[in-house]
Amino acid sequence: MHLKNSKVVVIKIGSSLLVDNTRKIRKKWLLSFAKDIKKLKSKNKKVIIVSSGAIALGCKKMNYKKANLKLDKSQAIASVGQIELMNLFSQIFSKIGLNISQILLTLEDTEERRRSINAKRTFENLFDLDYIPVVNENDTIATSEIKYGDNDRLASRVAQITNADTLILLSDVDGLFTKNPKIFKDAQLIKKIEHIENEIKDIYIKGVTEFGKGGMNTKIEAAKICNLAGCNMIIANGLYLNPINRIEKNNNCTLFVSKISKLDARKKWIISSVSPKGELTIDDGAKKALINGKSLLAAGIKKVSGKFNKGDHIKIIDIKNNEFARGLSSFSSDEIVKILGCHSKEIEKILGYISKSEVVHKDDMVTI
Ligand code: GLU
Repeated sequence: MHLKNSKVVVIKIGSSLLVDNTRKIRKKWLLSFAKDIKKLKSKNKKVIIVSSGAIALGCKKMNYKKANLKLDKSQAIASVGQIELMNLFSQIFSKIGLNISQILLTLEDTEERRRSINAKRTFENLFDLDYIPVVNENDTIATSEIKYGDNDRLASRVAQITNADTLILLSDVDGLFTKNPKIFKDAQLIKKIEHIENEIKDIYIKGVTEFGKGGMNTKIEAAKICNLAGCNMIIANGLYLNPINRIEKNNNCTLFVSKISKLDARKKWIISSVSPKGELTIDDGAKKALINGKSLLAAGIKKVSGKFNKGDHIKIIDIKNNEFARGLSSFSSDEIVKILGCHSKEIEKILGYISKSEVVHKDDMVTI
């Protein structure tokens, strides 16, 4: 029922759905999943799959244990496992006449405007060619600092780049609970979350923070990105056969409803950056100006934190340390250190060259 009005749907599947505890590949499950996808396509929906499993399948083939792997070794194993993964998809999906393609992305591909627009175009061309894109992180070249490391947030950025209406995260839990369901018998599945910031805070207070460490946290991070991108997100248990059909029938999942985003695509991209490079602390006068839609000028800046270049994503925080805007800086952090607190007219004299007068232009900024 959630999917009825969705034109573009991104579905993320975790490694545990493809390989079971005994390292057996769940081919029957994958075929049932492929049939669900075929059904979605028959209703004219465009589907993108984000699939983990490169490392798990590489480990299986090479007989390694995932837990003991160092990053460089896991990258080599992922390069072996990614072929296994795509072979598996190709073998199963072709059985029912579905064509697949592979897209490997790094954090930089989604964070850099030009590259993310290129990726968007490739997705659109693949839809036109009637191929289903199967995305994974390019584990073989991502280093620890510039790595997603989890496909939940990667999937949410893919959803945002492609203007998707719904992202489905299929995992091995039913969704988000009021308490840790492994400990508390009275834990209840939360079916709908409409105001993520407020509602999640309440859940945390009730003691769920330890639940599914990492696992649930990255899903909530993904939900926040989707929320800002105008995309609904569903967390559902994918272990069952025909998992998508099951969501539509039973509604046994958590749905995060996005507030309708009025932001244009560029602003959406700015606000959902996962790796801002620095922070600017600004005074109350500048904060007021920003809220009224003005650009950020050097005069209102109190402090610069972090090291960033011109064009990088930064957070803008007030003197009480609350983040209230994000933007693209027109100056490097080194330049801002020299000009903060100064009048715009003085900038040229201080830096020794002509430059913009706004540190963050209003078109490059989104208040939260
Ligand atoms: N990209 C990793 C892989 O294919 C998985 C990351 C994740 O589990 O979210 O093995």
